[in-house]
Amino acid sequence: MAQARAVVIGGGITGASVAYHLAKAGWRDTLLLEKDELTSGSTCHAAGLVTQFNPSPTMMRFRSYSIELYRELGAFETVGSLRFASSPEQLKELQRGVSRARGIGLNVELVSDEEAARLMPAITRRQLQGAVWVPGDGHLDPHTATHALAAAARKLGAGIVTQQRVSGIELGPGGRIRAVQTDSQRIETEVVVIAGGIWAPQLAAMAGVFIVSTPVDHQHAALLAVPGHELPHDMPCFRDPDYLVYGKSEAGGVVLGGYEAEPPARWIDGVPWEHAGTSLPPDQARFEPLLAGAARRFPFLGEAGIVKLVCHPDAMTPDSNPLVGPVPGVPGLFMAAGLSLNGFGGAGGIGRSLAQLITAGETDLDLHGYRPWRFGPVHHDHRYAAELAREAYKYYYYLRYPYDADEAGRPRRTSALHSRLQDLGAVFGAKHGWERPEYIEPGAPWRRAGADQRRFGWQRPPYFEVLAEEHRAFRERVGIIDMSSFGKIELRGPGALPLLERVSGNLIDRPAGSVIYTQLLEQNGGMAADVTVTRLAADHFRVVTGAGYVNSDMGWLRLQVRGSDPQLEIRETTGELSVIGMWGPHARAVLEHVTGDDVSEGGFPFMQARQILVSGARVLAQRVTYVGELGWELYVEPGWAGQVWDRLMTAGRPLGIRAGGYRVLDSLRMEKGYRYYGTDLSLLDNPIEAGLGFCVQLDKGDFNGREPLVAVRESGIKRRLRTLAVAGEEYEPIYGGEAVHHEGRAVSRLRSCAYGFTARMNLAYAYLPVELKPGAEVQVEVFGRMVPAEVTRDAVIPRTQPAAS
Ligand SMILES: Cc1cc2nc3c(=O)[nH]c(=O)nc-3n(C[C@H](O)[C@H](O)[C@H](O)COP(=O)(O)OP(=O)(O)OC[C@H]3O[C@@H](n4cnc5c(N)ncnc54)[C@H](O)[C@@H]3O)c2cc1C
Repeated sequence: MAQARAVVIGGGITGASVAYHLAKAGWRDTLLLEKDELTSGSTCHAAGLVTQFNPSPTMMRFRSYSIELYRELGAFETVGSLRFASSPEQLKELQRGVSRARGIGLNVELVSDEEAARLMPAITRRQLQGAVWVPGDGHLDPHTATHALAAAARKLGAGIVTQQRVSGIELGPGGRIRAVQTDSQRIETEVVVIAGGIWAPQLAAMAGVFIVSTPVDHQHAALLAVPGHELPHDMPCFRDPDYLVYGKSEAGGVVLGGYEAEPPARWIDGVPWEHAGTSLPPDQARFEPLLAGAARRFPFLGEAGIVKLVCHPDAMTPDSNPLVGPVPGVPGLFMAAGLSLNGFGGAGGIGRSLAQLITAGETDLDLHGYRPWRFGPVHHDHRYAAELAREAYKYYYYLRYPYDADEAGRPRRTSALHSRLQDLGAVFGAKHGWERPEYIEPGAPWRRAGADQRRFGWQRPPYFEVLAEEHRAFRERVGIIDMSSFGKIELRGPGALPLLERVSGNLIDRPAGSVIYTQLLEQNGGMAADVTVTRLAADHFRVVTGAGYVNSDMGWLRLQVRGSDPQLEIRETTGELSVIGMWGPHARAVLEHVTGDDVSEGGFPFMQARQILVSGARVLAQRVTYVGELGWELYVEPGWAGQVWDRLMTAGRPLGIRAGGYRVLDSLRMEKGYRYYGTDLSLLDNPIEAGLGFCVQLDKGDFNGREPLVAVRESGIKRRLRTLAVAGEEYEPIYGGEAVHHEGRAVSRLRSCAYGFTARMNLAYAYLPVELKPGAEVQVEVFGRMVPAEVTRDAVIPRTQPAAS
């Protein structure tokens, strides 16, 4: 009977990398299965360019490591790369990118158009504004690199079997991986890694798992050398995002690819198993705009003949991040898929991280944004997922501004209050399928936001004063917001409390009706989530998280369940309850108008949840605050939400109530020092560094991360999340990620940013060395300028509500 310690499905660059790293970690008995020959999927079609330039710290590290690995294998040509700005807006984007790269430790340089032309004499300087020069970048031959990795894996003991298609994945008790079935044998194993590229969703389905990834076509062409314009072999790679193209020199000509505006998705219901390495019929007409774009930077290319136009899909996810990690509910199953046209950049680092996860249970990189289970039921519709994937592709190069909203597949989910918000003049953005108010323009027709920032570019937003008005309502009177998209997860049963207590830094075992603000922690003390937990009954809890994190957090909670835990049900209940947030000094007066229940300071203390009646509607009111003012979140069945909203609006009118959207929340919460998961808090930060030590109850008994946090408390932290006041009172275009410099070197990067309308300050958070205390001066690199910033106290506007404990 065949057996392997781990089976890797797929012989592309990703599978080869996973097998290599597993073998390198000592799992020699690893078997890679490929249904055809190695490099029979997207891998054989890659143009082979790899750049480290990426604003995501994890992706940048994946790529830097991948390059190092290919170089070690002798499969990488370091020729450097130039990323051009062919418009003033793009130049700013590149300046921002350089600052962000420096903020995560990648030293890149923005060079002038003259310098770019010196590095690449073949280009014209027409429209050229400058370029980012990354000397360590380069290219590879996909076939050579994959075979080199596979050979290295074999040398370390891994088995590689081709012409063997996996036809089934067998699960044992508890949904645990037991074996894989191929067309000729059954192989017992406890670990399966799906590295099946565009076939990955079908492979996952063999284990009853739904993953979200769509094949989207990509094209590139080999252009013949133009006599008199032969390109040197060692010419740097180039990317010209304004013209949507990338390329490298080959045989005196160029391999040219790019990102079309309307890429087709194909085989969205399933990829034929018999499809292998063959290219698909190309679409010359679709490629023409890219050829024209390239000819604007390399005019002689207008005369170049095409040797071959290649067309093949790659697996695109809705956010163009790969799917990397374990799969909740199926112990032993791991994903390394959805490479989203980034396979060679990603595969080296992904293989290493996944092997660390499999063999040691943890990795040193933040894989939160790559969790294979982060998408939810809303994405379990191939057409919708395909629309999002196509949009992600379209914006691969095409400039997407930070405030732009998603455009595809809308509207998808609307709250019970949607029509009320339409009547008020809401501008809707989208999050995890939900239409949500970004801000509200009273008197203006409602609309859905899209690429709005394209209209005003890097300037102060035209709706700045609208946000200021909304801000004032919450701070000075009373503001109201539809927060129905909040992610809600219910845990029920005798296992609920032990699980939550084990994974939370804060004490969960409090009387029913308590609301607990806590971080969910990994074993190393890193933060996996930032949530509130409401104890509804002895063994019934509701975890509330951000709309975009609900599936991510729920899957993570499932992964934390142990076989020995008492019985427990974990269920998403987001759609079962609408949520109205109401905060401001007059919030109590408004609530008193609409309910006969006691909502007084003494009768309804902070961090408590109570059932109240509002015009016959049963409402669970939670006295919490994210904006730092008195107020409540009101949880109510969607069928009742409209009339509760109407009653609050009517009662609030004499007190100046105003509806707001999500955009103003950053301004409100940052003035009070409140954090946001994903930007301010992550797996690589711990709550003590984040200034959330008050949420960590070291004396409550054992919990995830307790020991490392005890050690941190004893030895002291080395860095601390600080609030910065950047520049002066005037609006400063900071978006997050910008490098923070001190004494001439980059020491950190910005996390959340917002203009604080009460404080009249540009606020930003950054983890800084502990020596940089309030009063210290630093500089923030904003579009190539060094802007002064001062470290301030956490909350620049004093908190009026007690700190949650
Ligand atoms: C035209 C084009 C140009 C590109 N250019 C670049 C570039 O310049 N730089 C870059 O970084 N990336 C580029 N990419 C992206 C990159 O090629 C992919 O992201 C990467 O190759 C994906 O590798 P993979 O191993 O995940 O998937 P694949 O290469 O698709 O490998 C999956 C493998 O799984 C096998 N398989 C599937 N089902 C089974 C089964 N049931 N049993 C056994 N085996 C199975 C398949 O046969 C296949 O070999 C490009 C992609 C395309 C299409």
